Amino acid sequence: MGKIVVLGGGESGVGAAVLAKVKGFEVFLSDRGEIAEKYAAQLREWNIPFESGQHSEEKILCADEIIKSPGIPLTAPMVVKAMEKGIPIISEIEFAGRYDTARKICITGSNGKTTTTSLIYYLLKQAGVNVGLGGNIGKSYALQVATEHYDCYVLELSSFQLDNMYDFKADIAIITNITPDHLDRYDYKLENYARAKFRITQNMSSDDCFIFCSDDEITIQQLSQIVVKAKMLPFSQKTQVEEGACLDGNTIHVKMAGRDDCDLLVEELALSGKHNIYNSMAAAIAGKVMNIKNESIRASLASFEAVEHRLEKVRTVGGVLYINDSKATNVDAAWYALECQDRPVVWIVGGKDKGNDYSALFDLVKAKVKAIVCMGVDNTKIHAAFENLVGSRNIVDTLSAEEAVKACAAFASEGDVVLLSPCCASFDLFKNYEQRGKLFKDAVNAL
Ligand code: ADP
Repeated sequence: MGKIVVLGGGESGVGAAVLAKVKGFEVFLSDRGEIAEKYAAQLREWNIPFESGQHSEEKILCADEIIKSPGIPLTAPMVVKAMEKGIPIISEIEFAGRYDTARKICITGSNGKTTTTSLIYYLLKQAGVNVGLGGNIGKSYALQVATEHYDCYVLELSSFQLDNMYDFKADIAIITNITPDHLDRYDYKLENYARAKFRITQNMSSDDCFIFCSDDEITIQQLSQIVVKAKMLPFSQKTQVEEGACLDGNTIHVKMAGRDDCDLLVEELALSGKHNIYNSMAAAIAGKVMNIKNESIRASLASFEAVEHRLEKVRTVGGVLYINDSKATNVDAAWYALECQDRPVVWIVGGKDKGNDYSALFDLVKAKVKAIVCMGVDNTKIHAAFENLVGSRNIVDTLSAEEAVKACAAFASEGDVVLLSPCCASFDLFKNYEQRGKLFKDAVNAL
């Protein structure tokens, strides 16, 4: 057996190392940073040699194959050296896919991945399918391939996970939408980013299905340039489709040749908002492809509970509803969050700006937002973009969730909504978006 080196000792790297070990490879894991104790313990338990705080070149460059964690860029010096030496570099998903015969439903896109993945997993589980959940969510796919047995997997794949995927094949692939995000990793070229997302369709045959949003311009443009062999199942809120899902008034029609149509009422969907109509459509089509009964699809999409930090209703205080959408780390996600509000909004926005262009939000802010509470270290761009829309007396700067919530409570009156949908990454004030959302909820619950 050959020698596998895994770079990165997080969820995906450790999972890949365990799978390699189970499959009889000689394995070594290396992480230039610290490895969390939970993962170090797992590596010891499986007798997998590892190092942290350094990359020992001689132990890495003798590998027959390298499994690279998604967080490590292709430009990292050790990765460059390995490539120069001609060592194949693959992703954890590629590696695990080699040992997995289960049916794979894979979801990628700029926004809505976690929601759509969770919806589909719930829908299949409720219908009694022996299904696993993985990729970017929860336990790594590789670890599950090593230690569990499922008939089907629902996998959330970020573009970083799709990089270094070559022979992996999804049976059902979904691209929720494509809007600019993380462009720094793609030479600031939207084209490269879109192409990376479309790796999810590679190796598919006419027996497989591709589910996508036909209202999404970048997706459609990309589709005009490449050949996807899978059966095309688009979803749209703007046009009718022959197969896939579309909207007729308040009814979603889900259609697939050879199967009975499934109709769903928008008001019966558990998740509200235009974006969640898209996510529910994608999930319903996947359910249809998987031959799930219409009643079961309908019941699951009606009873699903929102995922934490995604338009999560926290609490109503003094007639003001507080909503935690901390996961909205880009302009498009915040657009949908604002779009679905039908009450005056006090909006918490800000954080680490990723080169945002706020102009797409101007109309919504003008129509719906009564006050803006900036929560970030540098709020210059937010002031420049919105101050004249809400008035200089209705915009303030804060430096913590607690301070922000207090400022919101002062602006809001009965019947208003306080919406944390920050448009930005969280790293200037918080560890991650989960911590930002949690501290927001703590502050709301302390009111
Ligand atoms: P991802 O896993 O792709 O980051 P999530 O489901 O976690 O997506 O949602 C991230 C943010 O995007 C949330 O603020 C959510 O409300 C918003 N969102 C969810 N689905 C969509 C969609 N289809 N289009 C645009 N924004 C969405």
